[in-house]
Amino acid sequence: MEVLVVGAGASGMMAAISAAGMGAYVTICEKEDIAGRKILRTGNGKCNLGNRELRTDYYHSSDNELLDAYFSKFDEEDTIRTFRSMGLIIKESGGLFYPFCEQASVVRDVLLSNIEAYGIKVLYDTYPEKIVKVKPDRFEVTFDGRTREYDRVILACGSYAGIDKKDRLPSDIDGYSLAYSLGHTVIPVKPALTALNCKGDFWKEISGVRAEALIKLTCDDSYIGCEYGEVQFTDTGISGIPVFQLSHYVGANPDRSYSAVLDLMPGLDEDEYISLMQNRMLAFQGHKVRDFVIGTINSKLGEYIASLAGLNMDDAIGDSTEDKIIEFVGLIKCFKVDIKNTKDFTHSQCCSGGIPLRETDDNCQSVKTPGLYICGEMLDVDGACGGYNLQWAWTSGYIAGRAAGSY
Ligand SMILES: Cc1cc2nc3c(=O)[nH]c(=O)nc-3n(C[C@H](O)[C@H](O)[C@H](O)COP(=O)(O)OP(=O)(O)OC[C@H]3O[C@@H](n4cnc5c(N)ncnc54)[C@H](O)[C@@H]3O)c2cc1C
Repeated sequence: MEVLVVGAGASGMMAAISAAGMGAYVTICEKEDIAGRKILRTGNGKCNLGNRELRTDYYHSSDNELLDAYFSKFDEEDTIRTFRSMGLIIKESGGLFYPFCEQASVVRDVLLSNIEAYGIKVLYDTYPEKIVKVKPDRFEVTFDGRTREYDRVILACGSYAGIDKKDRLPSDIDGYSLAYSLGHTVIPVKPALTALNCKGDFWKEISGVRAEALIKLTCDDSYIGCEYGEVQFTDTGISGIPVFQLSHYVGANPDRSYSAVLDLMPGLDEDEYISLMQNRMLAFQGHKVRDFVIGTINSKLGEYIASLAGLNMDDAIGDSTEDKIIEFVGLIKCFKVDIKNTKDFTHSQCCSGGIPLRETDDNCQSVKTPGLYICGEMLDVDGACGGYNLQWAWTSGYIAGRAAGSY
């Protein structure tokens, strides 16, 4: 059994090891001159490679039932067990899995040392120009004008996320077009887990501010979802994990009209908040507006919101400022921003869209071209922040490799 894995990223390396474990002769071709380049950047260089709380509701996909079937074959415990058996010690922090040494490079190196131990051939700077099924169980693959035959092919080419456009293969020979040439459809690929560009010309004024917030996303005024955490204000809009988690929706339907409403004092319910602010207004009668504003929320953000409410920081608090202070107080709990779009692929951590899951069976085998397997982010599966995307790479890579490598 000769298996070709296209792509030496997270899912491709796992697929190659798992196919070799079944006794297959495995070759990986990788378009770059190194393997696992993206793994090195994961988890801010620490690689968050899984999560204790593995559930399909942490994923977006065209078929969550099938996703369940995959995770029932290889779940978070299997991730720990498999990496341990490959030589990696994993630690858990707040439910998130990391290599004990907190070095992403070690995850890549452990995969590579197992690839070497199995005698798997890695062809760097190599990518297929064409893949054709020539016999019921044979694929002819063309690299650089020369052809080679394999019994099984696993596509593990990843997505466009985190890659500069100039570093991508031309769209007529990239992974998605290889799958398309073998009978698959491709759900439009869009950036996910990324920052949001927002309307308005004030962003530079508050750029750099980080604030705890509850952020509610609406689309055409209908509620979409809500996330809590540290929001970062940038030159062009909002970023941070809670924003990343909501970005999928904006990326997937960019023509709709989205807004985010930020509660900048999320710890307090309505009544507590009103009573806190009423007491504050009484206590600061006659003081300057600045005294009331400073000490509520982040000062740069507070000053900007005060100016939105029409307040002058040097005015004395009194009857003439009362309405404006009420408006300021309301804006802290309900700061609405209109969203333009997501950041581009280069600035995203994963992509929505790809090959529909229903075009593969529960072994990641193509239902369009049997003998072809597809795994990782190429499939229409994108997870939340927190190790879910790498978990999907390990799960789908393991399943595809095991099935492709068995006779
Ligand atoms: C900055 C950043 C941080 C992230 N942090 C995390 C995190 O902490 N936790 C988490 O779970 N997820 C994280 N992710 C997401 C995670 O890295 C990906 O979901 C995961 O790597 C996808 O695995 P993959 O094998 O599908 O694709 P990749 O890992 O991207 O691998 C695809 C490989 O295929 C190669 N290739 C592509 N096309 C071809 C071709 N035609 N021929 C040959 N080779 C080809 C590519 O060069 C690449 O090496 C992060 C992503 C980014 C960008």
